Amino acid sequence: MSYSYWLTERDIEKKYDVCVIGGGISGASTAYWLKKEDPSLKVSILEKSQIAGGASGRNAGFITSGSVEHFNRLVTVHGKERAYEIWRFSEENLGYIQQEFSSCYKEIEFVQNGTFSLASDDQEMGELKQTAQLMSSFDIPVEVVNQSDIEKRLEAKNFVGGIKYESDAEVHPVKLTKKMIEAAGAEVFEYHEVDDFVEDSTGVTILTNKAKFKAEMMVLATNAYLPLLSKYFEDKIFATKGQILVTEPTDLCMEAPCYAHFVLDYFRQLPTGHLLIGGFRQLEKETQVGYSDHTSEKIQTALADFVSKHLPKFKDLKVLHRWGGIMGFSSDGQVFVGSLPGNSRVFFLGGFTAHGIGLAFNTGKSMVDLIYGRDIPEFISARRFQS
Ligand SMILES: Cc1cc2nc3c(=O)[nH]c(=O)nc-3n(C[C@H](O)[C@H](O)[C@H](O)COP(=O)(O)OP(=O)(O)OC[C@H]3O[C@@H](n4cnc5c(N)ncnc54)[C@H](O)[C@@H]3O)c2cc1C
Repeated sequence: MSYSYWLTERDIEKKYDVCVIGGGISGASTAYWLKKEDPSLKVSILEKSQIAGGASGRNAGFITSGSVEHFNRLVTVHGKERAYEIWRFSEENLGYIQQEFSSCYKEIEFVQNGTFSLASDDQEMGELKQTAQLMSSFDIPVEVVNQSDIEKRLEAKNFVGGIKYESDAEVHPVKLTKKMIEAAGAEVFEYHEVDDFVEDSTGVTILTNKAKFKAEMMVLATNAYLPLLSKYFEDKIFATKGQILVTEPTDLCMEAPCYAHFVLDYFRQLPTGHLLIGGFRQLEKETQVGYSDHTSEKIQTALADFVSKHLPKFKDLKVLHRWGGIMGFSSDGQVFVGSLPGNSRVFFLGGFTAHGIGLAFNTGKSMVDLIYGRDIPEFISARRFQS
C-alpha cells in the first residue's frame, strides 16, 4: 500500500528509540535483547493481529537443534565445519533460553526430554545412522534406537528405527513469546498493521492503520510477511504453509517429541495428554504457499492416516483443533539478519524455515549485535545475498 501526503497527516505521533514490527518470537527476542543491551531504551512492538498471532502461535513448540535437514545433509551441502557452526548456533539458542528463563520453566511449559527422528524405511535409517556417526564425531549427544525401543518409549509403530537428539526441548510457544515481551518491558500495539515507512536523517516514520510512529530505528520481524513490506525480500523469503491437528487428551505415554519422514512430519504429546501432529505439506506443494492459513482436506486426512498407521493408541480420539500457519522459508534454508540497502535505520531478521522456536532467540541476539556494530556469524548475515 502507498500513502498520499494528505493521508500521512495524522494527529497521533508516538515516539520510540526502536519500533519492532511483528509480535512473534523473532520480534519478542529482538525486543528482549535490546532491553538487555540498554535498559533505558524505549522499545515498542507493532503487531497487525495479536501477539504470537502468526507462526509463533501456530507451531508445534519443538526447540530443535540444527535446521530443516538432518545433520548428514547439512554436512553434504555446507561441509563439516559450517554444518557444525549451524548446529552450534541452534544449541546456543536453547542455551540462552535456559539461561534467561530458567526461573519460569513451569509457566512456559519448558521440558527438556530430547527429540526423536524416526525412519519409515531402511534408506532413511541409513541416513540417520550416518547423522548419528557424524554428530558423535563432534561430541553431540545422540542415541540410536531400534523398533522395539520406539514401541516401548513412544507407543509408535511401523518405524524401522531412529535416533534421539538428547538435548532438544519443547515449550508452549505463545507463553514463551509473551514471557519474552513481558521481560523486555516493550510497549505493545496489537492490531496495528504497518503499511508504510519512510526514513530520513532524523529517524524513521512508520504508518500503521491506526497511528503514526517515529523511531530512531526500526526492526522488521515479520518473517513470512517481509516481502509485503519491501521488494528486497521477494527473492529471499517464501511464505509456506504448515498444518497441524490436535486430538482430545489421553494418558501420557511418549518420552519426547518426534519427527518422521526426513523432518517433514512431526508429533508430540502435550503435557496435558493431547496429541499434536503436523506436516505433510509435501503432498500439496503447489497450494501450501502464500498467506492463507486454511486447512486442506488432503493434508488433514494424511495426518489422520499417519495416526492410524503409526500411533494406533490415539487413532480413535476426537480431533479438537485443526489449523494452518504461515512460515517464512529462506532461499538457502538459513536465517538472515541485516539492514535494508539504502536504509541504515531499517534492520531485519527472518528466514527461520520452520525452525523459529529453535533459532529466533539467538537470531534476535545477533540482530542486536549488528545494530550495535558487533560481528555476527557470516552464515546468518544477509550480506551473503549481495554476491
Ligand atoms: C504448523 C507449524 C509448525 C511449526 N513447528 C515449529 C516447531 O515445532 N519448532 C520450531 O522451531 N518452529 C516451528 N515452526 C516455525 C516457527 O513457528 C516460526 O519459524 C517462527 O514462529 C517465526 O517467528 P517470527 O516471529 O519470525 O514470525 P511470526 O510468528 O509469523 O511473526 C510475524 C508477525 O508479524 C506480524 N506482521 C506481519 N506483517 C505485519 C505488518 N505489516 N505490520 C505489523 N505486523 C505484521 C504477523 O501478524 C506475525 O504475528 C512451525 C510453524 C508452523 C506454521
